[in-house]
Amino acid sequence: MREAAQNFRGGPAITVVTRFAPSPTGRLHLGHAFSALSAFRFAEMHGGRFLLRIEDIDTGRCRPEFTDGILEDLAWLGLAWETPVRRQSEHMEDYAAALARLKAMEVVYPCFCTRADIAAAAAAPHGAQPLYPGTCRALDAETRARRMAGPHAWRLDVGRAAALAGPLSWHDAARGEIAATPGAEGDVVLARKDAGTSYHLSVTVDDALQGVTDVVRGEDLFPATHIHRLLQALLGLRTPRYHHHALLTGPEGKRLAKRDRAETLAALRAWGITPEAIKHQLGFA
Ligand code: GLU
Repeated sequence: MREAAQNFRGGPAITVVTRFAPSPTGRLHLGHAFSALSAFRFAEMHGGRFLLRIEDIDTGRCRPEFTDGILEDLAWLGLAWETPVRRQSEHMEDYAAALARLKAMEVVYPCFCTRADIAAAAAAPHGAQPLYPGTCRALDAETRARRMAGPHAWRLDVGRAAALAGPLSWHDAARGEIAATPGAEGDVVLARKDAGTSYHLSVTVDDALQGVTDVVRGEDLFPATHIHRLLQALLGLRTPRYHHHALLTGPEGKRLAKRDRAETLAALRAWGITPEAIKHQLGFA
């Protein structure tokens, strides 16, 4: 842990900045508490700063009352963060500017496919999220231009982008230097039809804009880090260090999910469980 507070990739010593970046699509559960406490404690241990960012680009699923609930739960847990809290829905122009740069570099293309089109073309094994088969990457300019009037997403042409960026790597606290393999996720969406941006694009832009030095988040986002590393290279953004923590599991060994209502911090609190007891259980006593 010690060296993490020292020089940043050989540069001058920089204050550690971590963040917790929940999406307000429900109330927080113990898994979120673990993640938030991990990021908070890491900053605290290094005399750094802790930020909270609300990732609410998905206006269909995010609700202001969940944002209020998140703030309430984190304060109840004893966390303190800097203000103002960045809410992604208030910064759409930042993501649009990043997308415009990627368009100018010709590493993104418009995609007109529906979910059903993709599932049919990809013939994915049942239940698996199919990799995008690249249908719209091959469209001719005329077809593209004609269809642009209708709804479309923007996808990263990952082959082209990776070739342009050249070999890349990033640092994972547990596993060391990792060679970036962004192609494993296929041509991911950078701007959704309905949102004009995506998780991958906005998280990468924001971590850089907010000067985050250490991204502390769950192991489930490990594959996403390869994509974020590529986007950083394309957009000329600094690469933070990454700390991917194991995910908490419930009694049956299943990963905790928002739909398991009883696990929410609000529910635990209503049952009279104290923040101290929760921190103790999660190993942050
Ligand atoms: N907003 C994402 C989520 O709630 C987390 C983003 C991140 O930590 O990179 O899953």
